[in-house]
Amino acid sequence: MALGKDYAAQECSIARALEVVGERWTLLVVRDALYGVRRYNDFLVHLGIPRAVLAARLQALTAEGILEKRRYQQSPPRDEYVVTDRAIALWPTLRSLGLWGREHFGEAQLRIFRHAACGTELGPYGECPACGTVVPVPDVLMVPGPGLDTDPADPVSRALLKPRRLLEPLEAGQV
Ligand SMILES: [Zn+2]
Repeated sequence: MALGKDYAAQECSIARALEVVGERWTLLVVRDALYGVRRYNDFLVHLGIPRAVLAARLQALTAEGILEKRRYQQSPPRDEYVVTDRAIALWPTLRSLGLWGREHFGEAQLRIFRHAACGTELGPYGECPACGTVVPVPDVLMVPGPGLDTDPADPVSRALLKPRRLLEPLEAGQV
């Protein structure tokens, strides 16, 4: 019997959210989209995910209004997937998950998130300790941390080695 993805017996906002983003790979697709990945092949090479799974996740995320499909080339037709406010609103959740993973499972720090305006590393709640404000997602600067592979094989990982703001469209040279 196939495992359903809803939690019909649960009266809970967490359960409702997990019905949308709780499938395997979904949050990693959203993570990549927030890092600026927009094109199918870029998701594919960066995630190392089966094509059918990626297509299903992109379709589901688009249907839920988390990604928006936009045509960027007419012939041959090519679409890209752009984050919506719903995706951007998932950023604190993704960052918290990353911090939790690092703290409890001993992951090395792979990426550091800074306030682009002043360069200060963000606190656990997305706040800039120097400026005393919660930093909007487009003003978050992502830089490589000490645990990040400095010679990755795929072009998206290589592009993500450079300091870049979240949401900034990633040009990895893929079509
Ligand atoms: Zn600051």
